[in-house]
Amino acid sequence: MSKTILVTGGAGYIGSHMVRMLDQRGFKVVVYDNLERGNRDALTAGILVEGDLHDTDTLSGVFNDHDIHAVMHFAALAYVGESVHEPSLYYRNNVTGTQCLLDTMHQHKVNKLVFSSTCATYGIPESLPITEQTPQRPINPYGHSKLMVEQILKDYHVAYGLRSIALRYFNAAGCAEDGSIGERHDPETHLLPLILFEALRVQAGGDPADTGLMVFGSDFDTRDGTCVRDYIHVNDLCSAHIAAFERMHAQPAMGAEQFNLGVNHGYTVLEVIDACREVTGIEFNYNSVARRAGDPPELVADASRAMQQLNWSPVHADIKDSIRHAWQWFSAHPPNRLQT
Ligand code: UDP
Repeated sequence: MSKTILVTGGAGYIGSHMVRMLDQRGFKVVVYDNLERGNRDALTAGILVEGDLHDTDTLSGVFNDHDIHAVMHFAALAYVGESVHEPSLYYRNNVTGTQCLLDTMHQHKVNKLVFSSTCATYGIPESLPITEQTPQRPINPYGHSKLMVEQILKDYHVAYGLRSIALRYFNAAGCAEDGSIGERHDPETHLLPLILFEALRVQAGGDPADTGLMVFGSDFDTRDGTCVRDYIHVNDLCSAHIAAFERMHAQPAMGAEQFNLGVNHGYTVLEVIDACREVTGIEFNYNSVARRAGDPPELVADASRAMQQLNWSPVHADIKDSIRHAWQWFSAHPPNRLQT
């Protein structure tokens, strides 16, 4: 009989791709999402229960009504800048919200969790590439909130037997290969969508000289002066969740574990722009502006532990795959400001 997975935040960017993949792999899916930042129409499968993590009556009802086998927990706020200005929101949603979930799981004797953590828990790493042993010293409330949950997961394993795998994502990118679902953030702050919005604007006849695309910082100590990031395709993130779930089955003695998820290769902002020009065939421009507060110069994963222990590897390690899939999605679903 197929197992039922509860996906919190399943209407969000990564969560909705997870729902789609779980469905394709034969799992039953229940989505729990408050739809504050998620999109109902991003759901291609599963049963949606609309609710907040703090609403433990509704959450408990999900466990009463469904035979939940394991939880994949995506529901969280994830804007670094916003977390600096609104830390209360971040600790409330990401930390106490998660605690509500974990306590409800405990009450209902569900003891398997895959958790969305982040490379933002490392802050400015003291060495590169970043391994799971690299000291975690977050530099913003978002990173702190995720690190706090990692600690809670360790403590809940010791005390309550909760088994968990925290997956520390590097930069999620791309969309479903078939263009069925994609990425919609409001506001959009991520590099790849913003580059593609600029390409769309120029494609629609906009003057390349009027570019709104900004490159934050050109004086970092990197090969071309712009920041380096490790971009991982959203479906590679999702396949790692399935691998994590399988590991929890194969290793009944495991407790709370952590894995980096990246492709072990970084691209500078200018390299991402060049790759987007190549994939789209559009010659758009950008403006070099001052650094954005809190941007570490270089974040590149050493994901070899995930590759070995989860028996997982990214199939879209070339960033052009992510760009191609995102371009397909954004061309069909341009942001409101570009719609005529
Ligand atoms: N970036 C940029 N212009 C933008 C948005 C992002 O130059 O309009 C840079 C940002 O400074 C960082 C990289 O692109 O070096 C990736 O940023 P993003 O916000 O996509 O992800 P983050 O690394 O902050 O999680």
